[in-house]
Amino acid sequence: MDDIINKIIEFRDARDWKQFHNAKDLVISLTLEAGELLENFQWKSSDQAVDANFDNIRDELADVLIYSLMLAHDLEIDIKSAILNKLEKNEKKYPIEKFKGTSKKYTEAE
Ligand SMILES: [Mg+2]
Repeated sequence: MDDIINKIIEFRDARDWKQFHNAKDLVISLTLEAGELLENFQWKSSDQAVDANFDNIRDELADVLIYSLMLAHDLEIDIKSAILNKLEKNEKKYPIEKFKGTSKKYTEAE
C-alpha cells in the first residue's frame, strides 16, 4: 500500500499539483471519477457494461482509488487501518447470523 501511495505522491509532486489538492477538491475529483466509472454502465445491463467497457472500467476505478489514496495521505489517514476498522464496524452492524444471504440494510432487519 505504501509503495502505491508513494508513487501517486511522486507523480503529483513532479507536476507541482499539490497546490490544487485541498481536501474539498480531492473529494469532488474522486466523486467525478466515480461518475466516470458509472457512465460505463449507463443504459446497459451489468454484464453488458463489463463486457463492452472493461478497460475503461479498470481505468476509472483506478482514478477513484488514486484520488481516495491521495486524500487519505493528505489527511494523514492510515488507509489500511481505516479499512480494517470500518470492516470491524460493519461486522458488528451486519452480523453473519442475521445478514447472510440477504441484501437488507441493518435498519431493516428485526
Ligand atoms: Mg477518469
